[in-house]
Amino acid sequence: MAFDTVRYSRQGRFGPLGEAGQERLARSRVAVVGCGALGSVSALALTRAGVGMLRLIDRDLPEISNLPRQVLFDEQDIRDGLPKAVAARRQLQRINSDLEIEAEVADLTPRNAARLLGGVDCIVDGTDNFEARFLINEVCCRDQIPWVHGGAIGAEGRVLAVRPGSTACLRCLIPEPPAAGSLPTCESAGIIGPAALVVGAVQAAEAMKLLVGVPEVGNALLACDLWEGTWRRIDLAPLAEAGCPTCRQGDFPWLEGRQGAATTPLCGRDAVQVAATGAVGIDLASLAERLRSVGPVTANPWLVRLDVEPGVQLSVFADGRVIVTGTRDEAKARAVMSRYIGS
Ligand SMILES: [Zn+2]
Repeated sequence: MAFDTVRYSRQGRFGPLGEAGQERLARSRVAVVGCGALGSVSALALTRAGVGMLRLIDRDLPEISNLPRQVLFDEQDIRDGLPKAVAARRQLQRINSDLEIEAEVADLTPRNAARLLGGVDCIVDGTDNFEARFLINEVCCRDQIPWVHGGAIGAEGRVLAVRPGSTACLRCLIPEPPAAGSLPTCESAGIIGPAALVVGAVQAAEAMKLLVGVPEVGNALLACDLWEGTWRRIDLAPLAEAGCPTCRQGDFPWLEGRQGAATTPLCGRDAVQVAATGAVGIDLASLAERLRSVGPVTANPWLVRLDVEPGVQLSVFADGRVIVTGTRDEAKARAVMSRYIGS
């Protein structure tokens, strides 16, 4: 028996899962992309459910406005300046010490997608942008990895489980990504914590079903509105038969770099990410030393953070990425970066 029968006795007693299902979960490897609101909840649920391995992938730091819904973080994590993936691993490991957890402080890009998303049985989308979601969709369609898309805004949520090759994929549902700024975001429309909790929980349940091989998963968009108190299940079977370029014809524009951007405003916060320009393996210790003469510096093995001016912070990650918080102006972010980092 590959799992603790006492710890998981109630789940094992649930007929459709059973001990065989629980054993399958214990052997399962799952990647959670994005450890914000949805990723926090789904990672928490999968940790407690007894999966065997979790890979947590996130590019960002927790901040105070995250705490109403990002259930894995607390005020101390913010004071410590820990990246979300690392803080999440610390918290989840306390809950389940049997679980193997990998923390990847990284931005998902076409270059690292194969490494970050490889070797897993299921991927859960905890991201907040279409670029990452389409990238996940393409990797999953190419490599036949089941995955679960999720989104939450305001009091609304939606979940789509994808089994590549047999159900509708994200591109079947959304043939072209919406133009930047054309949709409401958590920034403009806000979000209530329970919407994120519900969507993350539904994603975790869909992931569990995919992992144990429940055949009926997918081909439906599950949508809820917690303020209206409504739940809908929208049949996507006709879309799956429509000859989608990605899941049926092998067209991968995001993965092949024909679509995408280098400077990214981060959803729901005053921050801009400037992607690495090939400068990997930055010497964070000597950077921290240099920046100490400029202003207050927080340094740990994953990043160096500098208080540039009141309300503006510069965070440099070991993989070469820079996040400038306190602005949404991409030109200003690049200026702050070149002033203090010199590239
Ligand atoms: Zn498709």
